[in-house]
Amino acid sequence: MRSRICTICAKPSVIVRSHEGRSLCRRHFMESVERNARKYVGKHRMIESGDRIGVALSGGKDSAVALYVLKNIVGKRKDVSLCALSIDEGIAGSRDAALKKAKQLCKKLGVKHCTFSFRKELGMTLDAKVRKLKLGREGVCGFCGIARRWILNREARGLGLNKLALGINLNDEAESIMMNYVRGDMLRAARLGPVTNYSISGRGARLFIPRIKPLRMIPEPEIELYAKFASLPFHPKHCRYRGGIRIDVEKSLDMLEKRYPGTMFTIVSTFDRILPGIRSAVAQEGYVLKCKKCGEPASKDICKCCELWRNG
Ligand code: SF4
Ligand code: ZN
Repeated sequence: MRSRICTICAKPSVIVRSHEGRSLCRRHFMESVERNARKYVGKHRMIESGDRIGVALSGGKDSAVALYVLKNIVGKRKDVSLCALSIDEGIAGSRDAALKKAKQLCKKLGVKHCTFSFRKELGMTLDAKVRKLKLGREGVCGFCGIARRWILNREARGLGLNKLALGINLNDEAESIMMNYVRGDMLRAARLGPVTNYSISGRGARLFIPRIKPLRMIPEPEIELYAKFASLPFHPKHCRYRGGIRIDVEKSLDMLEKRYPGTMFTIVSTFDRILPGIRSAVAQEGYVLKCKKCGEPASKDICKCCELWRNG
């Protein structure tokens, strides 16, 4: 039964947290999200003195909240700097609107904003790549993700950043965990977690900019609600190429979460308990090389981005 009043102050509630058995009003909901993110950042020591953090800002709700929350956490600290990096993949009909929102947010928060594009960095937009290779829906995200990570890593290093913050929420992380189980991809599973700087070794390791995920334990609906209440500019639509196995896993997890509230928390927290074991099991495979073509981290002589995008 949906409770209509806040468990803390008895004002009208805006959200029911079934897994916690409580409802929250707007104020207590906002405070709770901020507290949860702050605690998570502290628990995993995501921010340290001297950090120069770049937030990967897509223009969507998740990265908007990540930037906003980090800006509040870092506050006026002089020993930590924050900027935002956006990538224009070249997807007609949605990226321009999303990048506009990203720009507005950075202006509102007074954060430096840098934009990079597939066209300029890789010589081709994502739309053109899809047309050229006649990629089906299942294959586009793979191509896109590889290129985006390559650009982000390279440009973050170029800007002198030492960490990249991602707006990954609880649902995203639970989906990624389940996807890796379905595919049996333990190497990728080892790269998940609150901070992605696991025991990689090899010549390419120092070139890899560690990732942090401050929103990793916050459910997607809460992120959306928070972004709205905080009046953050964000683009509400999903990318039109979104597809493949992630959609099926997403649907299954949504169904489970509805029937068994707290499922996503359980998936992620159970995974975290076995993560050290997964990492030590694949330690040898986690050896990172330096791409002979572009100098970025690679698992073979030539990195995936050079193989798929820079092979012309
Ligand atoms: Fe790229 Fe897929 Fe994300 Fe679209 S949904 S931006 S194609 S990774
Ligand atoms: Zn390369």
